[in-house]
Amino acid sequence: MVEFIDVYKKYPNGTVALKGINLKINKGDFAFIIGSSGSGKSTLLKLLMKEESVTQGDVIVNGYQLSKLHTRQVPYLRRSIGMVFQDFRLLPNKTVYENIAFAMEITECLPREIRRQVPMSLALVGLSRKANAYPHQLSGGEQQRVAIARSLVNNPALLIADEPTGNLDPENSWEIVKLLTEVNQRGTTVVVATHERSIVDAMKKRVIAIEKGKIIRDQQKGLYVDEDTEFKIYS
Ligand code: ATP
Ligand code: MG
Repeated sequence: MVEFIDVYKKYPNGTVALKGINLKINKGDFAFIIGSSGSGKSTLLKLLMKEESVTQGDVIVNGYQLSKLHTRQVPYLRRSIGMVFQDFRLLPNKTVYENIAFAMEITECLPREIRRQVPMSLALVGLSRKANAYPHQLSGGEQQRVAIARSLVNNPALLIADEPTGNLDPENSWEIVKLLTEVNQRGTTVVVATHERSIVDAMKKRVIAIEKGKIIRDQQKGLYVDEDTEFKIYS
């Protein structure tokens, strides 16, 4: 589903953001990526969308080998991935309904499909009653739920969230993380970058820790993998 093979990323200004990333996230998994500011979390996620390209190594996402991906195929890759950001990125002059419909229109969905799918997505995030509201009339948590509904309209195999709770209070943060786990339970692979340890600790999901562009820990369901990729039972 998602695989990084010895990935290095150097930005044009000389910053080396990723240094030898090897990582596999299987279909249907839920994984947190944690690490301090500047550790490389967003860079890792940008590579998946081909918003940035690797300097060395390769990335495989939803069956696309990114080093071999033709520019023509990039829209197909992006359609197979839903993306959620810290700042929600809703269009301020469109209603909740229109924001979600717009994400379908730009991928050339039929009006009939749009009329069917938008209410379903809104129901999934519990916001059917807000369909005609504008983003500024919603709380931060509600805006993020709309963004999640929008990210799901094209039925992506993979949902990526970059600091989805960064602008929310603890209660709303918790709601959003719960919603992301529900999305995962419906079969979507979910990858969440965050530096909120309290949420990560409470969730008992896979946690991939990166520091200075390297994976320093990858801990999953009682298994602990240390830097030498030596497997130990975590008790
Ligand atoms: P944060 O928690 O603050 O969001 P992050 O873990 O997401 O941090 P990245 O944004 O991936 O970190 O940045 C990793 C490193 O790459 C940092 O040193 C950053 O300054 C650098 N970097 C990120 N984007 C660029 C860019 N477009 N050009 C040059 N350097 C960049
Ligand atoms: Mg970031």
